[in-house]
Amino acid sequence: MNMADSNALVSLSQFARTASGADLAIVVEVKTDGRVAWSTGFPVTSFSGFNLARSGVLEHAWNDQPVDASRFRLPTSILTALGCPAGSVLFIPAPSDDAPSSGLLLLWKTGANPEQSAASMALLGPSVAQLLSARRGAVHDIVVRNQFIDLVESVPAGIVLVDGDGLGTVINQRAAELLGHKPGRHRAVDLVAPMRALRQRCDNHEALEQAYAAQVGNLNFATTLHWVMGERTFEVDTHPVRGDGEQGRIWLFTDITADLLMAAELRRLASSDPLTGVPNRRHFEERSAQIIAAREATGRSVAVLMLDVDHFKKINDTHGHPIGDEVLKVVARRCREALRERDLFARFGGEEFIALLAAPTADEVPATAERLRNAISGAPVHVGGLRIDVTVSVGGAMGEALPGSDARLLEQLVARADEALYQAKADGRNRVRMS
Ligand code: GH3
Ligand code: MG
Ligand code: MG
Repeated sequence: MNMADSNALVSLSQFARTASGADLAIVVEVKTDGRVAWSTGFPVTSFSGFNLARSGVLEHAWNDQPVDASRFRLPTSILTALGCPAGSVLFIPAPSDDAPSSGLLLLWKTGANPEQSAASMALLGPSVAQLLSARRGAVHDIVVRNQFIDLVESVPAGIVLVDGDGLGTVINQRAAELLGHKPGRHRAVDLVAPMRALRQRCDNHEALEQAYAAQVGNLNFATTLHWVMGERTFEVDTHPVRGDGEQGRIWLFTDITADLLMAAELRRLASSDPLTGVPNRRHFEERSAQIIAAREATGRSVAVLMLDVDHFKKINDTHGHPIGDEVLKVVARRCREALRERDLFARFGGEEFIALLAAPTADEVPATAERLRNAISGAPVHVGGLRIDVTVSVGGAMGEALPGSDARLLEQLVARADEALYQAKADGRNRVRMS
């Protein structure tokens, strides 16, 4: 509430009352529907909300002359303030855009003295209208400022807002916590050191310094960078904002740690087989395309090994599906362990697995296939108190990623390895066949 404008209106009603000899003077801010939105007066400065719509006061054609009060149905709160039924009434309209029926209401307990209740009171109308507008403007400013604070504090981000002249800033609670400062208004110079300290705490501070240093003096600088602070990562957006000067700028700090973890977990889930934990077929195809593309540049060999558990249906039928699942987990683990770190291994589907060997020698491919076969048949699988003999058949195919060989190379290798696998099955299982 702007006290200056309110006080001026109290003084004005005091003056009007004295000058006119009235017993009560009230300034009323009246909305279109006749509702009194705000009022003040003298000698009573506080009025409860009332409506002037049905009193007849607003409809009367006022010509600066007091009128017998019996012609109106004055609201009870006004009569209470006066202390008795009114004798006469004068209303001086002070219209404004938002409150077109506003004005100054003068009341006399008895009939007014026409000489004293001079027509000059009408001169107060414009002043009343102007003061009411000023007061409304001030109230509006306060509402806007409160809304601004509510907004700035409800955004789930740290906010540093730099004034247009570049001298002042506002920071919200979240930014204050990050910067180790108090929320609210600060001189911009007082935030330079805390901002720099925060940046220097980042794991990637050198890259950040470089990125920001390159933009010093650029008023249109707009960028979003990740500030990595150990476990936590903030997405820090800065861009110019319209203000009362060209230096207006906002810094927004959004904690994206949870989003990043979620995204990583989704990627992991999307690329791995839930039963065995090894990569799934989708991941295998994506990764091997990349690996083959890299080979293409150098023209080195690649090989695919397809592996299928022998008579797996029988394991399921004999021991049940859950035991079959456990067997698949053991098969996957043993294969992974039998391969080199850089070989790609995945569950291709069902009880079939696949490996991509990058840059193997011609001897290495059947040797690796043999190693896989041995890893499974070499020792029985122990699950659920059972001891199950498991064997696998392996088919292998080798090719050369020549410059210009396309993505179909993988398809061809898989098809040839599959044929070789079929041959291994046909030849009695628990064996390796090369294409
Ligand atoms: P072959 O030696 O010719 O490969 O014989 P097989 O019995 O292994 O061949 P087939 O392809 O007929 O059977 C594969 C079985 O694997 C059928 C299917 O029910 C089972 N299977 C596929 N996926 C899973 C799984 O995730 N868990 C279990 N327990 N069984 C599975
Ligand atoms: Mg199969
Ligand atoms: Mg099988």
